[in-house]
Amino acid sequence: MDLLDILTDKGLRREPPTREEALAVLATTDDQLLEVVAAAGRVRRQWFGRRVKLNYLVNLKSGLCPEDCSYCSQRLGSKAEILKYTWLKPDQAAEAAAAGVAGGAKRVCLVASGRGPTDRDIDRVADTIAAIKGADEHVEVCACLGLLSDNQAERLKAAGADAYNHNLNTSEATYGDITTTHTYADRVDTVAKAHGAGLSACSGLIAGMGESDEDLVDVVFALRELDPDSVPVNFLIPFEGTPLAEEWNLTPQRCLRILAMVRFVCPDIEVRIAGGREVHLRSMQPLGLHIANSIFLGDYLTSEGQAGQADLDMIKDAGFEVEGAAETTLPRHRARAAAGCGGHQEESACGTGGGCGTGCGPCGGHGEAPEAVEAASSTASTASEDEARTDLVRVRRRGAGTELAPNA
Ligand code: SF4
Repeated sequence: MDLLDILTDKGLRREPPTREEALAVLATTDDQLLEVVAAAGRVRRQWFGRRVKLNYLVNLKSGLCPEDCSYCSQRLGSKAEILKYTWLKPDQAAEAAAAGVAGGAKRVCLVASGRGPTDRDIDRVADTIAAIKGADEHVEVCACLGLLSDNQAERLKAAGADAYNHNLNTSEATYGDITTTHTYADRVDTVAKAHGAGLSACSGLIAGMGESDEDLVDVVFALRELDPDSVPVNFLIPFEGTPLAEEWNLTPQRCLRILAMVRFVCPDIEVRIAGGREVHLRSMQPLGLHIANSIFLGDYLTSEGQAGQADLDMIKDAGFEVEGAAETTLPRHRARAAAGCGGHQEESACGTGGGCGTGCGPCGGHGEAPEAVEAASSTASTASEDEARTDLVRVRRRGAGTELAPNA
């Protein structure tokens, strides 16, 4: 059996690949790319059909962060000429959210820069959630406010939040290279707090920061251990004025291989193409939809995405459909667990202790190195000088924090 047959078979059974198999996906050549996409696509369709979940970002508080995350345009010392503003009022945030919902988004992601919220900030976000849900009770709300202190996740849950996002971003081994003001363990702790409060956990990564294939595989397996319901995959947008401005390491083909690896490791988890979609996948975005089942509609926190209508057209043209508010995103076995029906670890192949947990034996010894997909003479494309597509990085100048209408 070759690598892709093994991975497809495992994905259909919600069994993780071995670390070696995950690395082998990243090592496939450009000649093998469509076969990789097709294999990941079979797994995606098994668990998510042809649905694409749309999520909409509302940046509640932009810039002026005291943390030093190297990838972030809002970091301490950032020279990026982004919008800077303090907390939006609840009605302002709700107005921005409503534009996203009207455009087809079923989840609104409320994001604020900063190390973590104060208790007063939790009050503000609670008021904002009330304003959003008062307008449409079916909208899913995810909060992304940084590191949580004790009881803050519970307060967000009580306020009506459905989910909490906090990304691991990169491997534990390299975390200290990108951020010094907090630790990888801090991030793991916040995801655990969200889980503990009964919030749906959302945690993902950023690719393209100079990490190795091993780092990428490490962070994706670490995410799987955290058992999130959704995994956003960001592709670094190298903002001028940040320490990683020169890190143009990604090609569309590399991005697709990374998405496929994430899908194989997290077969039944919502995999979201997040920031950097337009910058790095470019005209290959529709192929990404065959692997991921979720994207952000419209703009990002500090940069502009393609027009919301272009997102919708792309989904339709590629043969997919926007997931409706009444549809359940997760496969039934995970949705039941997320709703508190019990048995999460047993039912979820992405659990931390289930029978098919990472690298476990009972699911059948697939630990040997798989055969290559096929002998191929080509290599994987790598980014070169002309891949520095700074022309595609557009600082957000519309929507939340401006007088201009949001892009949705
Ligand atoms: S804590 Fe958040 S807003 Fe602040 S620098 Fe890090 S990623 Fe950016």
